[in-house]
Amino acid sequence: MKNTTLLPGQGRVTPEIVVRTVKMVGTPNRLSDESLILHNCDEFLRIPNAFGMIIRYAMKANSLEALLQLIASKGLHIDASSINEVWRAHRAGFPYDHIMYTSQQIPLTNREKLELEDMVKQGVKFTVCSIPHMEFIADFAAANKIAVAVRRHPKEGSGESVTRDTGSPYSPYGAHPSDIPIILEISRAKHVIIDELHGHIGSGSDPKKFKEFVPGHLRFIEEFGMEDVTKVNFGGGYKEGRMPDEIPADINDLGEYAKSEIEAFYKRTGRKLVMELEPGTRIVANSGYTILTAMYLKQNGPGGCKFVVCNGGMELVTRPLLYGSRHPLYGVSREGELISSEFNLGSLTLEKDGKVVTGRCCESGDALRLDKDGNVVMVVMGNIRARDHIVVGGTGAYCSSMSLKNYNSYLEPPEVLVRIDGDLDLIKKGQTREQMVQNELPLRKLN
Ligand SMILES: *Cc1c(COP(=O)(O)O)cnc(C)c1O
Repeated sequence: MKNTTLLPGQGRVTPEIVVRTVKMVGTPNRLSDESLILHNCDEFLRIPNAFGMIIRYAMKANSLEALLQLIASKGLHIDASSINEVWRAHRAGFPYDHIMYTSQQIPLTNREKLELEDMVKQGVKFTVCSIPHMEFIADFAAANKIAVAVRRHPKEGSGESVTRDTGSPYSPYGAHPSDIPIILEISRAKHVIIDELHGHIGSGSDPKKFKEFVPGHLRFIEEFGMEDVTKVNFGGGYKEGRMPDEIPADINDLGEYAKSEIEAFYKRTGRKLVMELEPGTRIVANSGYTILTAMYLKQNGPGGCKFVVCNGGMELVTRPLLYGSRHPLYGVSREGELISSEFNLGSLTLEKDGKVVTGRCCESGDALRLDKDGNVVMVVMGNIRARDHIVVGGTGAYCSSMSLKNYNSYLEPPEVLVRIDGDLDLIKKGQTREQMVQNELPLRKLN
């Protein structure tokens, strides 16, 4: 059992590697799997396309330098959500002209304005997401003959939760169709070229909704007479399957469909469009694990709820509390035996073996499985003892990058990468107490 991979048939993380990582850095820690990240990049690069394709990794999913380096080595480009993300991507080795800036952020200070303009001048693609974005960039883009992208509000979207649907009437992302004529008017008046139409319907979106979105997005280019558009960006959000019963989106099928629609657009208009896709989750989610130790077991009285209390929870893996998202939980003994896996329950049952797996924060929502209303949910766990490990799967996306840093003053954990050859590389040191408080200043004067 030591050498079977935790995620059936995928990646190379085994109980043996879990225990080796724990020996190296202790717990809690985060572990990423190089082989699966590279494999996921390859899957996207193989998607069929009509007239060329660019895959942009949406780096807000996980922005660690070492992972960005792996993804850059595959030739993917970047979707950045902020100026700081552009800075981080460039620092990790992405040339500016492989980075697209699609952000809600508009510089408020002159320093930020000059920095962003300099990045754009060096090749960063600027996406206009509203009329103020266009007003911000128009003169600079025209003076430097730099083409921009426009992100439109798709009017209908889809997400794994309401909070991740970027097409709803209550979502501010992208210029609403009623604002597009004004943006086009500015572009004509100031001679700003718009060479790309962008759209993103949401995270963990329903593949059916993606298919509805694609032809409408292409029609939009024709309807609004966007004559200079040579690239069409369909955004990201491709559903991943983290749990045994979750079905990932068939990206090949979606690519095939988008390809046929781009070909139909060519037949109608004689224009060949390059396709851009922006996966975040699908590149990194299943490559990441968060490794905890069961500190102790307890029970709320005879017949009451059974708990496994771990040395990490909501502050490290916030998605269950935030969205009711499920992550597979594995039991791995300290000797490196697989005690339980939700992918292979064997004779374990929820009635006999169901436990609530909690973290250590003073907050009743600090559990590793919750429903969408925030109620704790039992998980089938094997015969876990104190000091055995609970491994949380599928934590490569929106966990390290979206954690509740230092809540209850718990520190950010170290991160390790298991390389293709099985070596373990430390890719992020654990935070120290001093680092947690380093920017705080004491009162200058006591009353
Ligand atoms: C977040 C985001 C993505 C990636 O979404 P995933 O669900 O992680 O694939 C892509 N494009 C844009 C504009 C985004 O905001």
